[in-house]
Amino acid sequence: MESVNVAETKPKPKLKKEAVEMPKQEPKVRAKNFNEVALGYTEEMALEEASRCLQCPKPQCVTGCPVEVPIPQFIKCIREKKYAEGIATIKTKNALPAVCGRVCPQEEQCQAKCVVGKVGQPVSIGRLERFLADWERDHGFQIPEKAPPTGKKVAIVGAGPAGLTAAADLVKLGHDVTIYEALHVGGGVLIYGIPEFRLPKAIVRNEVEYIQKLGVDLRLGNLVGRTHTIPELMKSGTDAVFIGSGAGLPQFTGCPGENLGGIYSANEFLIRVNLMKAYAFPEYDTPLRIGKHVVVIGGGNVAMDCARCSMRLGADVCLVYRRSRDELPARQEEIENAEEEGLVCKFLAAPVEFYGDEKGWVKSMKCICMELCAPDASGRRSVKPIPGSEFTMDVDTVIIAIGQTPNPIIQRTTEGLVTNPKHGTINVDENGKTSLEGVYAGGDVATGAATVISAMGMGKKAAKAMHEYLMNKK
Ligand code: FAD
Ligand code: SF4
Ligand code: SF4
Repeated sequence: MESVNVAETKPKPKLKKEAVEMPKQEPKVRAKNFNEVALGYTEEMALEEASRCLQCPKPQCVTGCPVEVPIPQFIKCIREKKYAEGIATIKTKNALPAVCGRVCPQEEQCQAKCVVGKVGQPVSIGRLERFLADWERDHGFQIPEKAPPTGKKVAIVGAGPAGLTAAADLVKLGHDVTIYEALHVGGGVLIYGIPEFRLPKAIVRNEVEYIQKLGVDLRLGNLVGRTHTIPELMKSGTDAVFIGSGAGLPQFTGCPGENLGGIYSANEFLIRVNLMKAYAFPEYDTPLRIGKHVVVIGGGNVAMDCARCSMRLGADVCLVYRRSRDELPARQEEIENAEEEGLVCKFLAAPVEFYGDEKGWVKSMKCICMELCAPDASGRRSVKPIPGSEFTMDVDTVIIAIGQTPNPIIQRTTEGLVTNPKHGTINVDENGKTSLEGVYAGGDVATGAATVISAMGMGKKAAKAMHEYLMNKK
């Protein structure tokens, strides 16, 4: 009699088209507190979501991840409940998984390439990454083995995602790594910009601590360009430098009245709210004058964060954006969250002038309606004002979130460092090499304001090139 292979005849389980939802705080509740909105997967939810992964032999998802996280391998570990192995697998490529699992634009990166997305919702790679990172936080870090010391010294400027990633990779390769950070705390935008309700600060501090435990020396309160310059560092025994100083200089509208009281740059507002905990005033001594009617100008992640912080501080918020809803550059998930929390938007409008009261505080602003035109060279729809369409809005507070550029202090104090005169960014090749020997750069300082994962990807590439450079250096 012919033998039957049971495995061959067993019907394949049907693929679940919908991803497992992640629980969130209710909109009405969360709009009044600064606690994290998304609550994370339970173990059961993670196991169910991990079961949707097809374990593709040629995984497309990995091609969408700028740091090449071994996605099917870590998901397999979740399926087998090997959580310690799973997080170690992620950390071979990504030193900040708890951050990336929360704020990576996964829908445009790894998940955009997941094959399951062709028949249903893609596998929730970011949520699974977050699950493992949070598991590790509850169970203690594992510190991977490092290569023997190379005797080479590396200086990193800035402890944001780019600098932290480059530092982690270089220290694991045996180099002596020091990060010089201007602020009194590491993390860059992750700590001073992205609000607590999207990325709790305890999580960022944990990831920074992990990098210190790898052996990186983090020196806070060191503004490179003031406390010491890059040429000085190079002369005093540093073999290579990575500049990851970000894009922290706010842009303004240039409209008359922009200097009135009650008009903040997004940076100042977010630093006061997040880093200096103005939301916990008077427990923390950071006053912030915020009125009932707040207007946020802009449409990116930064604008959404300003709007959602203002709502949590008790304001009615209107977002003024010059294009339409379809062109909003913020993450879709964050737009939906903000709208659920009560955000009102005025699309196709731009500010023209701000007016103040007798004490110099802003009290109203004039706007003009805009019309969408054909796409420009970057592929985005351009806009033009509609003559005679001006209107006035009463405002108590205005927050301007229309973009940031790099602070020029490093560029000005480093002779021979070639920069882009229009954007103020540092020119680099595909490996992050600048015009100066032994000096590399990456993240927002090289690209202009971008994303956490693109900054990390550049930090990683530069670390690889720096390692080759250091090992060939006499
Ligand atoms: P940064 O994070 O800016 O870090 C640079 C560090 O260098 C800072 O700590 C700074 O203090 C330090 N520094 C600067 N100059 C010097 C100097 N001269 N000497 C020493 N230290 C210096 N991206 C996403 O992917 N998802 C999001 O949801 C998202 N939301 C965002 C929300 C906000 C409010 C903001 C502002 C940005 C957001 N981004 C988001 C973008 C993302 O945070 C940045 O692209 C990313 O942080 C860039 O990393 P970086 O390391 O290049 O720079
Ligand atoms: Fe996806 Fe970001 Fe994780 Fe890469 S780091 S796998 S892009 S969530
Ligand atoms: Fe799993 Fe999707 Fe990656 Fe395939 S592409 S390995 S299904 S996550």
